[in-house]
Amino acid sequence: MYKILNLIKNQLFDLISPPFCVNCKKFISQRTPFCIDCLSQVKIVASVKLRVTENYAINVFAVSDYQYPFKSLVLAKQSSNYLASTQLAELIWDMSNIKNIKFDYLTPIPLHWSRYIKRGYNQSEAMALTLSGKSGKPVADILNRTKKTEYQFFLKQQQRLNNLKGAFELKPDIDLNRYTGSHIMLVDDLLTSGATLSTAAKEIIKLKPLAISAVVGCRVT
Ligand SMILES: [Zn+2]
Repeated sequence: MYKILNLIKNQLFDLISPPFCVNCKKFISQRTPFCIDCLSQVKIVASVKLRVTENYAINVFAVSDYQYPFKSLVLAKQSSNYLASTQLAELIWDMSNIKNIKFDYLTPIPLHWSRYIKRGYNQSEAMALTLSGKSGKPVADILNRTKKTEYQFFLKQQQRLNNLKGAFELKPDIDLNRYTGSHIMLVDDLLTSGATLSTAAKEIIKLKPLAISAVVGCRVT
């Protein structure tokens, strides 16, 4: 219920608010996230391979490094700005390579329920829904977050892996055979060390997919 009210609130806000650049707050005549000046400052980054296990690696598609103006959209989740999450996903679709990739499912990185209640939504889930609309591929909400983890940003690499150990598990009620041989695209807003995505991918490997990839808005370079 809370989630629905929050969605309605955010969508109403989108309808009645005049369009401003998310980064510099300058008025813009079109409903786009950034003004032309801010958009020209986006530092495009290459995709990377992320090691998950000794013999398994995933491609991570990204758009920008973790700098403004993209950083504004990632951080907007802290003020429960649902619109910013959809805008982030729209920019990912327009600016990354994922529209040229054949995949079958979009899987958002889940939030712990306590953080979900605090924000009213999950940024990765909002992004996955928008990307689903763009690609026509369904959202496969197959992971549970079983542990409330510390914010990764302030931790060192080994601490990050320890922090996330056992943080995700496959939902108990999913059809295990459905995903065999499919290509699953994980969705998250930000890639720092890769510990979150690799921990989640490790769970998904159990479904024996053909491939796992991931897409993020920003990648710390
Ligand atoms: Zn701007």
